[in-house]
Amino acid sequence: MGGIIICGKMCSLGTEVRLTAISVIVQAAVWLLLMRGGVNAARHMEYNTTSHPVQHQINAHLVCHTHDDVGWLKTVDQYYVGSNNSIQVAAVQYILDSVLKSLLQNCDRKFMYVEQAFFQRWWREQNHHMQSLVRRLVDRGQLEFLNGGWCMHDEASTHYVDMVDQTTLGHRYIKSQFDAVPRIGWQIDPFGHSSVQASLLSAEAGLDAVFFARADYQDIENRRKQKSMEVIWRGSKSLGATAQTFAGILHHHYDPPKGFNFEINSKDPPLQDDPELFDYNVQERVDLFVEKVLEQASQFRTNHVMLTMGEDFTYGNANTWFKQLDKLIHYVNLDGRVNVFYSSPSSYVDAKNAANVSWPLKTDDYFPHANSPHSYWTGYFASRTALKGYVRSLSGYLQAARQLEFLLGRHQSGTTQPLEEALAIAQHHDAVSGTEKQHVANDFAKRLAIGEAEAEKVVSMALLELLALQDQTDGRRTMLEGSVRGRSDSGGGGIPLLPVVCQCRLLNITYCPVTEAKILKETAIVIILYNPLAWHRTEVVRFPVTSTDVHVEDLHGIEVLSQMVPVEVEEEALREFHAEAYTGAKLHRRDPLFELVFEAQVPPLGVATYFVDHPTNPSDRASVSAMEQLDTNASASGIVDVGNDYVRVSIANDTGRLQRITELKSGLSVELKNSFLWYNGSTGNTVEEPGQASGAYIFRPNGSAALPVGGENASVKTTIVRGPIVTEIRQRFSSWVSQVMRIYRGKEHVEVEYTVGPIPIDDGLGKEAITRFSTGLASNKTFYTDSNGRDMIRRVINYRPTWDLNVTEPVAGNYYPVNSAIYLGNGNADFSILVDRALGGASLTDGELELMLHRRLLVDDRRGVGECLNETVCAGSVCRGLTVRGKLYLNLNPSGAAARWRRTEAQKLYSPLLPGFLIADSDIVGQLKASAGPLARGFSALASEDGTVHEFPCNVALMTLQGLPKRKVLLRLAHLYEVDEDAENSNCTIIDISPIVRNRQGTANVKWMHETTLTANQVKRGRRTLSWRVEGEEGGTPMTVRRGGGGEETFAKKGNKKYDFRMELCPMEIRSFEMKLKHRPLAERR
Ligand SMILES: [Zn+2]
Repeated sequence: MGGIIICGKMCSLGTEVRLTAISVIVQAAVWLLLMRGGVNAARHMEYNTTSHPVQHQINAHLVCHTHDDVGWLKTVDQYYVGSNNSIQVAAVQYILDSVLKSLLQNCDRKFMYVEQAFFQRWWREQNHHMQSLVRRLVDRGQLEFLNGGWCMHDEASTHYVDMVDQTTLGHRYIKSQFDAVPRIGWQIDPFGHSSVQASLLSAEAGLDAVFFARADYQDIENRRKQKSMEVIWRGSKSLGATAQTFAGILHHHYDPPKGFNFEINSKDPPLQDDPELFDYNVQERVDLFVEKVLEQASQFRTNHVMLTMGEDFTYGNANTWFKQLDKLIHYVNLDGRVNVFYSSPSSYVDAKNAANVSWPLKTDDYFPHANSPHSYWTGYFASRTALKGYVRSLSGYLQAARQLEFLLGRHQSGTTQPLEEALAIAQHHDAVSGTEKQHVANDFAKRLAIGEAEAEKVVSMALLELLALQDQTDGRRTMLEGSVRGRSDSGGGGIPLLPVVCQCRLLNITYCPVTEAKILKETAIVIILYNPLAWHRTEVVRFPVTSTDVHVEDLHGIEVLSQMVPVEVEEEALREFHAEAYTGAKLHRRDPLFELVFEAQVPPLGVATYFVDHPTNPSDRASVSAMEQLDTNASASGIVDVGNDYVRVSIANDTGRLQRITELKSGLSVELKNSFLWYNGSTGNTVEEPGQASGAYIFRPNGSAALPVGGENASVKTTIVRGPIVTEIRQRFSSWVSQVMRIYRGKEHVEVEYTVGPIPIDDGLGKEAITRFSTGLASNKTFYTDSNGRDMIRRVINYRPTWDLNVTEPVAGNYYPVNSAIYLGNGNADFSILVDRALGGASLTDGELELMLHRRLLVDDRRGVGECLNETVCAGSVCRGLTVRGKLYLNLNPSGAAARWRRTEAQKLYSPLLPGFLIADSDIVGQLKASAGPLARGFSALASEDGTVHEFPCNVALMTLQGLPKRKVLLRLAHLYEVDEDAENSNCTIIDISPIVRNRQGTANVKWMHETTLTANQVKRGRRTLSWRVEGEEGGTPMTVRRGGGGEETFAKKGNKKYDFRMELCPMEIRSFEMKLKHRPLAERR
């Protein structure tokens, strides 16, 4: 049975199939007529492809797939339509056209599709008839979605919120179009695999397993011997067995067995089964195939093996694959030594599960990845750190914009959707990873910028609405809209425009046209700040101004302490160049430039408003900081101390270099030295592994030692700027490296803003720039790095937890991805660094941490991208090597207290205050200040009607608050601590979310609510999960894990549902809820 005609009859897939079947019959008849009286009789073969797994045989699961990067050598659109083929012949639209046709021809055939960023493009182009045929293919399991996210995300440079978001986007799309739920994680190409992928993006996302191709070559060698390519992976020690997944390394990358690539241009021989033609090869092909299957089976447990039949962008002509595979199945099964059939990873996992054997346990991660002794894929942790920074800043921005979109309703003027989609593809393993061609990186950035511009409209409208919230009833809102003057980012010089809240997204280069304009008499800069965290917070706000004759007031007209920080000449040059490069604006500033700094207090999920204008009394002016340049040339020794009530750093007077950090509450004090260095990237001119250069993927320093920028222990030009809110230590290490260390009032950390670039290459040497902090702490070779911003993973120098490491690259082999934090300690003290974007980090010596900040390399590393990583930026006709600016946050704390700082600050860093700036007339300012309504109190979505603001406890974050169509809401709460991480905070906590969902009367505005899996495509309660036997746990799982309760329907009587809005969260738990509101949230409160 099987074959084209039979299947058409059996499957009844619809008219098209029946027509296909009839037309084949007609064609066959015509062929017979033509051949009547000819030399040969017609030869029609029917291939039996109906086979299924059988119990006592080796079962070979053929998994037909295509790996379609959503941008790599070509852009996502070019890959979809098939343009720019001179770079790479790849066209996803034809792959899907072709595959679907082949599936309809034989109902035994199966195909896996992954990237929804592509699939939804194709789906939109199909007519209803085709869509209904495809739905039936999905129902029948012939077309199965793996992963199901918008892309196959990277696992090293991605933040867990982004991973969850992009997967949710795809999962909900599949649910809406097919009512289907992906079962299998398919991370076949990413270059290393994270613990969070196992715990959150597999188990918690409702997937039964995850498969991937890349793992360390030494690890794989051992695993093959031990038959441990497939494991039970518990990525989170806090979630333990409650978030475990079956995880498998694929046998032969994600390719077919050698010799069985059936792409149309493949050199592998087709299965030629016509004895009347030359080169008949059935037995030969069957023998080789059986040999491959048996070889694979010898390295895997159970009698089931999975063969991945596909490669990058294959199946443009699906017929060449399926026609050959039909024959292969037919003849191999006739042979009988192994049993082969069309299958899917989900069927494969079910078969593995049914075998009921024990599996090895894996609790660490698969970083770093090396595919040979000198090919460590640890360079990409820090490739394109500017793009990585952009992605991270927009990630937090999207969450804030979504909250505002939910709280204030959708506006016609903008939506967060383009940013959501742009961020989704930016998580791809050749996007944020930095391993794409330059034009593709530009394309990702362009999409992000378009998304950002759309989301900015949402935020601007929401902030304006919050300003005018109080006034809808008395009509003053209209007046406000008519009177408030904004100035667009392109300048405008005070011309009245529609009210625009400018967001000044280039504050990192001290650029904000609206605040830099002259403040006219009778006007003020209004600063409205939104706090996306569910905690009260006090943060420093800073933006450029051109006059020192200003002061800051709050809504009550009370003077707010402020400080004017002078901007240096070097900074002005940098901002002028980049303002032109990024906005086209040519700055011709004549007035001196300062940064105005003040402390703002903002309620949780709320706003606060501040005003900057000319003071009536000159003594009320913001204080201008004192500047003191260290005379580093002098022989004067001694130490300069800089600090606040919590932290102090000591600077050597003679060199300007950092010497020590002291935590004042406990009196802890350790040596702290800091230097910038660079590794000379290998060009591959080596005896071992010649040709293996350091490049976009690979980190291969040319020798172990990094070279100091500006010379070993050389004096650093240092200026100290002191003031009541912030003290800055400005250090210039060389023409291309500088940094500013800032200690803010009330903060326990030192903020370090580094500026690296343009990295000089006139000496012909590729450079990988790092910053290194040496503490002298006896860290016993141990340090910790985060997994995608979630669990902290223990790292040991030159060591892997599951095999004896042969150290071949002592630097590159100790680098790990750092998305949020890296720290080390000696048991008493922890020295921690938080980062503002994904970087690579390592500890190579006890007490030392280093982070790679920027890379500029002159040779390609031969992993396919075909370009060297040499980023430039142009303003007009002037192009330079790219300069990267980012922030690190340093903290010394007693070991027991450090986690609290890391978790809280990381959250603040991910979700900074969102400022809006506009210019308003003084009468409007007066009216705003006189307002006694909710605005004056400061709006908070967590306030009750009586004004009480219910902030979340410090161990729980509001991860997602997203309005969905039809008044639905997606809410996620995340516990921020691991078990045993902090004495107070590593406990289960109850959160009451009712303020977010109540109505004016204080009762719940919720029609229905249910807890879902992490990606909100299935109800959590009653969801089936596979149980697995684990080696060494025959007596049962040793660890009990507590999971939170609550958040459920408490009383269900027809039409009278009640819910418990108190939700409990336990360590590292994320809980997701979908609810439907009766009315819009904030509209109710007006
Ligand atoms: Zn790929």
